[in-house]
Amino acid sequence: MVEAPAPLTWRDLAGIELERLKRGNRSRVKALGELGVAHLGDLLTYYPRRYLDRSREATVGELKVGEDATVLATVERVRAIPGRNRRARVEVQVSDREGARLSCVFFNQPWRAKQLREDMQAVLYGRLEVFRGGLQMTNPVVDLVGDRTGGIFAVYPLSAKASITTWEIADMVGEALRRCDQRGIADPVPPDLLADHDLCGRHEALRLVHGPESFADVTRGRNRLVFDELLRMQVVLVGRKRLRERSGAGIAHEVDAELLEGFRRRLPFALTAAQSRTVEEILADLAQPWPMHRLLQGEVGSGKTVVALMAMLAVVCSGGQAALMAPTEVLAEQHYLGLSELLRSLDGAGVRAAGRAGRLALGDPAMQLELLTGRTRATSRERILGGLASGDIPMVVGTHALISEGVAFESLGLAVVDEQHRFGVEQRAALRAHGAGGGLPDVLVMTATPIPRTAAMTVYGDLDVSRLDELPAGRAGVTTAAVTESLQQPAVWERLRTEVGAGRQAYVVCPLIEESDKVEAAGAEATYEELRAGELAGLSVGLLHGRLPASAREPRMAAFRRGELDVLVATTVIEVGVDVANATVMVILGADRFGIAQLHQLRGRVGRGSQPGWCFLVAENPSPPAQARLQALVDSSDGFELSEVDLDLRGEGTLMDSRQTGRSDLKLASLRRDRDWIPRARRAAESICDAGGPDSLLADEIALLLSDADIDYFDKS
Ligand code: ADP
Ligand code: MG
Repeated sequence: MVEAPAPLTWRDLAGIELERLKRGNRSRVKALGELGVAHLGDLLTYYPRRYLDRSREATVGELKVGEDATVLATVERVRAIPGRNRRARVEVQVSDREGARLSCVFFNQPWRAKQLREDMQAVLYGRLEVFRGGLQMTNPVVDLVGDRTGGIFAVYPLSAKASITTWEIADMVGEALRRCDQRGIADPVPPDLLADHDLCGRHEALRLVHGPESFADVTRGRNRLVFDELLRMQVVLVGRKRLRERSGAGIAHEVDAELLEGFRRRLPFALTAAQSRTVEEILADLAQPWPMHRLLQGEVGSGKTVVALMAMLAVVCSGGQAALMAPTEVLAEQHYLGLSELLRSLDGAGVRAAGRAGRLALGDPAMQLELLTGRTRATSRERILGGLASGDIPMVVGTHALISEGVAFESLGLAVVDEQHRFGVEQRAALRAHGAGGGLPDVLVMTATPIPRTAAMTVYGDLDVSRLDELPAGRAGVTTAAVTESLQQPAVWERLRTEVGAGRQAYVVCPLIEESDKVEAAGAEATYEELRAGELAGLSVGLLHGRLPASAREPRMAAFRRGELDVLVATTVIEVGVDVANATVMVILGADRFGIAQLHQLRGRVGRGSQPGWCFLVAENPSPPAQARLQALVDSSDGFELSEVDLDLRGEGTLMDSRQTGRSDLKLASLRRDRDWIPRARRAAESICDAGGPDSLLADEIALLLSDADIDYFDKS
């Protein structure tokens, strides 16, 4: 008896060239090469962009002038009209299944004359116009579908010039799938796991996605392939996390719980439940022999500073050093002030629980905190560097200066990185590399950008995540209003004047202008002049924008902080770094130009004290999507909730950056659409990793499909 041949693995498929297909003639292979499809594995994962249901495609008669639409039509006549530069055009006459005519004009695309031929079927996407009495589309997007008949069929993405039709691709995919039938396609996901999630096998999934008979087929096939992509990514992330946990190369800090309790009792406020939970999580991590890698998510005002300080103290009291790194000088200075103030509540506390040689106790005068930024004077810098190298300085706050050349720590035990809005993988790695001798320092990453839980599993999937999802009590909160009618505007300025009259302060944020800083600054200047002469006449108003030199900016911020300015008119430079509890009004002009996260961040600048805050989102004639964003802010003040809305409205573009692990392997999966699948893939990955790691089939697929950078990251993070 002949043994059945083994199913085709992904690596087998990646080794089969397209020429091996009967339908893989030279021109098709070349065109596919231009689309990045080099072998059978690529071809099978070259997924349709959409599906066309021939019976339901609109006819020309159903289209509306002025609207974007899709129509399935047959080419009747093609005419190239020569001309110089932009005047050359190709005119194509098409008709739909009912015989209704439409003309398409392509400017500056002479190759269309060769691409489009009589009797070809094409799907056209474009805006319907009326031109000289006839219906027309200008430069529509074209998908060639060949001469297929039948129900649903796949439309593949084509680059404008690829000389292959979506029909020809379907034809080749069909052949490829048929030729896999004999050996079958290997499936690394065990059957019981598939059953748990009601997923079909991989071979079946590929058939369904490429050649569905119904939209239900598409969903079924797609779910399985999405799961595969997410599973590979999660196996890498969870694997990386487990590796770190097992490496044992960290420092097991001897956390003195009693001592921290003493600190907690001396704080001028009680910790929120979220803060207490987070502190517990961190202290447990610190005591472990592997390096902590935890993300602390909490929006502005949620009280991250005190959490960070408790972690720093725990480390310092057990003999290590702690550093906090912020992305800007202003933020570093603010952290320095905030931490110093909290430390003062320990003064004279006499809580000397530890007191062992070489260790510090709370309230110890040697428990000093230093600030190191690019602005630090040479003499102080020298002293600080000396203290960090000798271990005499236990705690430091700073900017990138902390990871610049010449900075060495005697025994860095904890690095706190305030990323604010960015994901600074590189910087985290650099600071981490500073852990001397005894092991890798623990890392706590703080971010003020709330992101949905499922998104955090992918964007920060190799980190443990703590969420400060509760604001300290005693905040009066912010009332938010969307002001979209000019008649409502006087009430905004009236409210502002009332608040200022009561001794409080206000911000006016100028419209965001993305083209350039310069234009934005000019816009801010104009708004400032206008308001000072009009709505804000008689008040003391300051202007702040990114084009002002620091020497002009700093004194204005300081004056606002001291209460000498009533109103600060500013660009988004205030988003980061201005913290004035007495400010109660935030007017955001051109609010329709901002995203949800940014508006929420700006709003967080007011209502942080005991006085209620006001936030006015001013926008004239907002578009429906902008209207939806503004309404979301009016409806909710919960950053995590808003992040979910944002994901729905905008998609994942904002969350994923190009360095994202496994990004190149995510061909189908979407953080938004497939958010329910993320935790499932996560759990499956955890069970795989905890049962000894991926088997050779899955491990090999990961090595093949995820880029080296994804896997390299192991060493960096
Ligand atoms: P974040 O860094 O998360 O934006 P901060 O740590 O700066 O927030 O805290 C904001 C303000 O709230 C600070 O003035 C801080 O002293 C105060 N605060 C922090 N935690 C609490 C609490 N549990 N109760 C009352 N006030 C708190
Ligand atoms: Mg802060």
